[in-house]
Amino acid sequence: MSRRTRSEVPGGEPLPSGFENPDGYGFETRAVRAGQPHDPRTGGVVTPINLTTTFAQETVGEPRFGYEYARTGNPTRHAYEECLASLEGAAHGFAFASGLAGEDAVLRYLEPGDHLLIGDDAYGGTFRLIDRIHGPAGIGHTAVDLTNPEAVSAAWEPRTRMVWMETPTNPLLTVFDIAAVAEATHECGGLLVVDNTFATPYLQTPIDLGADAVVHSATKYLGGHSDVVGGFVATGRDDLAEHLGFVQNAAGAVPGPFDCYLVLRGIKSLAVRMDRHCQNAETIVDVLAAHPRIERVHYPGLANHPGHEVASRQMSGFGGMVSFSLQGGREAAEKVAVSTVVFTLAESLGAVESLIEHPGAMTHASVVGSPLEVPDNLLRLSVGIESIEDLVADLEQALAAF
Ligand code: PLP
Repeated sequence: MSRRTRSEVPGGEPLPSGFENPDGYGFETRAVRAGQPHDPRTGGVVTPINLTTTFAQETVGEPRFGYEYARTGNPTRHAYEECLASLEGAAHGFAFASGLAGEDAVLRYLEPGDHLLIGDDAYGGTFRLIDRIHGPAGIGHTAVDLTNPEAVSAAWEPRTRMVWMETPTNPLLTVFDIAAVAEATHECGGLLVVDNTFATPYLQTPIDLGADAVVHSATKYLGGHSDVVGGFVATGRDDLAEHLGFVQNAAGAVPGPFDCYLVLRGIKSLAVRMDRHCQNAETIVDVLAAHPRIERVHYPGLANHPGHEVASRQMSGFGGMVSFSLQGGREAAEKVAVSTVVFTLAESLGAVESLIEHPGAMTHASVVGSPLEVPDNLLRLSVGIESIEDLVADLEQALAAF
């Protein structure tokens, strides 16, 4: 069959993809297809990286396809936003330039004089944002142990409007009961925000459990390949969505089209990657738990983990993040951290390659002296998808080094 000439290509006529409505399809199908119609001019099955900054208008102020300026809206970004919102079971999704930019947009929902509760273990940068950026802007905070949902009403002040939690937490893998904390928060009249970075929507969907908003560092499992920094906020609430859309455009911390493409591409394989991350982590946890020089292993899949029962209920797998404390204090921890070969000593997490880090000196240095300070004999692993035999052998030789 000869190729069509250009004039025969049905320019502008959408080629129906048969997938206009993702509802009702399974997670993996939506990860590959939701928000990603085939290219209407060519039938291309991959969402293009649309680099244009502006869009032609035929009539003043009425753009034909709804796009006017790329900070406000971009087709690659919209595909990504629709896809991930679908996976989170959210009506609305907003992409940001980093996880912290997304968190900042949520926190701007609060007004000077307001106050929020934050779980007493969380990513150091989240605490720094709340304490050092929003604190001076008039937003107060109290760190509370959210493993007891009654702590919400006990710590609630007349000015409190929000509860912020990660589950599982970074770096101690503490698990909070999302449904119970959502109920306690709503009884007090507040909003619950859940950072779902560690679990991803493949293992846990907080909005289904009552959360008002979900935030992500898309830099981690969603991107999945250590090659893009990004953030995301999903919500089922129209009022919060209006606020987020406004801040996204008005403050402008948006990801570029190439970054959106990379996260969208990463999401397509999220399910299979997460299965392998979980499987490898479980094997490594068994090895670490049996090691004589290790004081404690933090992993929600362990039957003796305090959050195991809650995690078994609200997660469909226990994830790829593991932390452990060593006999011998910080010196021993640092020695192990520099002795691995397959596990790279580096910050960040959630990608195909395995990483090891010392949270006290690296990702959580900003919480030293705060209620979120972490033990200095703690190491954190982001277990990748490499051959499990290599990962186990690498840890065993590093642990033998001290
Ligand atoms: N939330 C968690 C749980 C994180 O681990 C991180 C970063 O490590 C962030 C949020 C911030 O995301 P980003 O680095 O993309 O700004």
